[in-house]
Amino acid sequence: MKLIKKFKSPNFNLRKSKKILFIIIHYTALKNYKYAISHLCNPKKKVSSHFLITQSGNIFKLVDEKKRAWHAGLSYWNKFKDINSLSIGIELDYSFNKENNTFSENMINSLTFLLKKLKKKYNIKNHNILGHSDISPFRKIDPGINFPWQKIDDTHLYFKSDKNLKKIKLWFKKNNIKSSQEIALFILSFIGYDTTKVKQNNQLLRKLIFAYQSHYLQSNCNGKLDSKTLDFLIYHLYNNLLTIY
Ligand SMILES: [Zn+2]
Repeated sequence: MKLIKKFKSPNFNLRKSKKILFIIIHYTALKNYKYAISHLCNPKKKVSSHFLITQSGNIFKLVDEKKRAWHAGLSYWNKFKDINSLSIGIELDYSFNKENNTFSENMINSLTFLLKKLKKKYNIKNHNILGHSDISPFRKIDPGINFPWQKIDDTHLYFKSDKNLKKIKLWFKKNNIKSSQEIALFILSFIGYDTTKVKQNNQLLRKLIFAYQSHYLQSNCNGKLDSKTLDFLIYHLYNNLLTIY
């Protein structure tokens, strides 16, 4: 693994916030890292990321962490909209339909190393390491359903019991949050997702559920709000209540 500072992207401006809360993970969807560097450093493209990690595990630093790189675009998390100002962006040299279609061991080792360093430096919480699809679920799918979240994220859902599940379902009922969709949107919004335009729009709901599953429930990526997904959401809420808030 090497940290390479040879290439600099001109695509950045000043952060509007001093605090860095999030790390956003992307994939490039380009043929290889050379294409990615020329893309991310091209002033005409108006996109960039702080880091790019190659298949062999080299880390290119393209934008200074103090600066606002342009990777998130139109996005939302937990009432924040200018995610670029609040985050560090990491691009992975990966494309699901080209030769670089695996999250190689070297790449993931380097990513784990970099995340550990950044988390410590900026005091970033595990639950604030997110995918582009989490913050832009209606227009982005990276880092995708094959990204190994479990390898880089040591937060797991610990508190699984049917008793708790029943209790929480009862709580929703008492508070007049009755349908599966209402419960799911309540929880997704609580976790941080943008749910504002989803109600009564099945296409957006499907995209949102798919984004959630792509990160947290990869064994069930079908875009459907089925009972497995709903129960998992309820455990997720319970887990967050006990560990984050
Ligand atoms: Zn992206």
